[in-house]
Amino acid sequence: MPQDFENKVALVTGASRGIGRAVAVRFAEGGAKVAIAYAGNDTAANEAKAECERAGAAAIHLLKFDVADPEACARAVEETVEKLGALHVLVNNAGISIDGLIMRYKADDLKRMLDVDLASVFHLCKAAVRPMMKQRQGSIVNLTSVVGEQGNAGQTVYSMAKAGLIGFTKSLARELGSRNIRVNAVSPGLIETDMTKELPEAAKKAMAEGASLGRAGTAREVAEAIAFLGSDRASFITGEVLRVNGGLYM
Ligand code: NAP
Repeated sequence: MPQDFENKVALVTGASRGIGRAVAVRFAEGGAKVAIAYAGNDTAANEAKAECERAGAAAIHLLKFDVADPEACARAVEETVEKLGALHVLVNNAGISIDGLIMRYKADDLKRMLDVDLASVFHLCKAAVRPMMKQRQGSIVNLTSVVGEQGNAGQTVYSMAKAGLIGFTKSLARELGSRNIRVNAVSPGLIETDMTKELPEAAKKAMAEGASLGRAGTAREVAEAIAFLGSDRASFITGEVLRVNGGLYM
């Protein structure tokens, strides 16, 4: 494995499980110092930490906080810089999905979804920009979704948040380009994780078969795309949305 993250510090939210854990492990394989952020599942976070250690992380720091809390987001970035020495890559991966048809959807769920899946990315980016500007270097990768691009019945709010992230990503890329900070998004299709475990089998089958490659993707496959955008190999790529959906949506 190339040491593509040697002397680099990466903060990955939602890194205890699923795609985020695969991203943290991929950065660790590249020799990064990794901050593993998560909401509350200590067992999963400790497993992710152990995996990152085995993968060769230069250092690891665990951060437990709710990404919906703006002050906690600012503290998490500060703590990362304090404990790991810098912040080169921020991966805004933490997310939830509260699904339901619009007529029955609760206002509280709408608020929580927008706080966790959308506003959190604003708060974390706002905090990360300061150290990245000082370094005159940084890469931010935001997790959007095929659902934010093509829509899905029963997921209006998830779609709203994920589509919002695309506009946010492009605007921030324009705002920060002159500071050598790149901002991109990765848009996965159906990926096998805890988030999709509860989906009805028929829906999963239809999505897998709807992909040109005829299957669901793995967290590792998404992590490779995120690692590419996070690394210097993508040094002239910003404001981009990289689809990792097996050809489900083109
Ligand atoms: P997952 O397996 O459900 O894992 C979610 C992660 O986010 C966990 O680490 C969880 O921490 C953390 N998290 C949840 N709420 C949080 C909060 N309020 N504050 C801080 N951390 C929080 O999810 P996934 O499937 O890997 O999805 C990762 C990202 O990819 C999400 O943004 C999702 O929308 C996006 N995505 C996923 C798919 C897919 O098919 N899976 C497709 C497209 C896009 P704890 O372990 O502590 O709970």
